[in-house]
Amino acid sequence: MIVIMNVNASSEAIDRVQQEITKLGYTPKPAPGETRTIVGVMGTKPLRGKQHLQSLPEVSNVIEISTPYKLASREWQPQDTIVSVGGTKIGGSNVSIIAGPCSIESYEQTKIVGDSVKAAGGHFLRGGAFKPRTSPYSFQGMGVEGLKILKQVGQEVGLPTVTEVTDTEVLEVTAQHTDMLQIGTRNMQNFTLIKEAARTGMPIFLKRGMSATVKETILAAEYILNEGNEKLVLCERGIRTYVDHTRNTLDVSAIPAFQRLTHLPVVVDPSHAAGKRSKVLPLSLAGVAAGAQGVMVEVHPNPEVALSDGPQQLVPADFKELVDRIRLVAEAVGRKLD
Ligand code: PEP
Ligand code: MN
Repeated sequence: MIVIMNVNASSEAIDRVQQEITKLGYTPKPAPGETRTIVGVMGTKPLRGKQHLQSLPEVSNVIEISTPYKLASREWQPQDTIVSVGGTKIGGSNVSIIAGPCSIESYEQTKIVGDSVKAAGGHFLRGGAFKPRTSPYSFQGMGVEGLKILKQVGQEVGLPTVTEVTDTEVLEVTAQHTDMLQIGTRNMQNFTLIKEAARTGMPIFLKRGMSATVKETILAAEYILNEGNEKLVLCERGIRTYVDHTRNTLDVSAIPAFQRLTHLPVVVDPSHAAGKRSKVLPLSLAGVAAGAQGVMVEVHPNPEVALSDGPQQLVPADFKELVDRIRLVAEAVGRKLD
């Protein structure tokens, strides 16, 4: 339930309504707008007190939110959230390019990619240091050494960084070395991790679970918002289906669904959806045409010898072409890359 205050309600009026909400056994969460304040009625109890709140003179309207998520909903916040990461914005009518290797493998590899991402017009440098691999015998990432390299290269090339945090044990050190924390597909419903990550106050890049519905994904987002962290970006990275011509199936329809139901920026990751280099370009363009506010793509100087996800990583020259093509589609759908 949300309480919409009268236009220009005084702070005393807002306080009084909050006290009434508290008396009903809920926690009030005010969200000041330009002319009106909305007060969220938060809690796990069944709804009651709607008519009472409606009858208060300071209140314009009380709306029951029909969805199980509140803070993520458009009812709670009609306008798009724009997230600032190291001074660079994601969301609104921007299309942000987040690119870099699947795994940080060395300073040299990361620097080559970082330079090429910057030169091609990318906005963020990504790279994994703690890798959640399907097999225990696969490369598990460079760990803290990798985080240090990512941070150093990000600073050298002048791009904010994104890296995955896989566990609460490595949350603190990961947060110290990056501008944005990624929650991977395998951890979307690791509620302990996502709540703790949210509490750092850092921007969070939340990937859709590979078998999660749109609603489950938004509920995971709600956990983060409920910790008071509104710096949140959603990512569609493909879901598990029966097809085997791609690694996952990019659910393009999830992009407008997330955008209709929530105010959060939505990024598309065609690399992990496709699993194959040849499909990264068409899926990127499809994602942006469908309204994605960013593209996350993997880039490696020599994918044949990459320690993870070699078949899907683009070489820098192909990445440059990708950015140029994305720019054309972005402009065609009223968005901008720069
Ligand atoms: C990644 O982006 O490095 C990654 C592991 O992605 P996902 O969680 O989508 O598989
Ligand atoms: Mn990868």
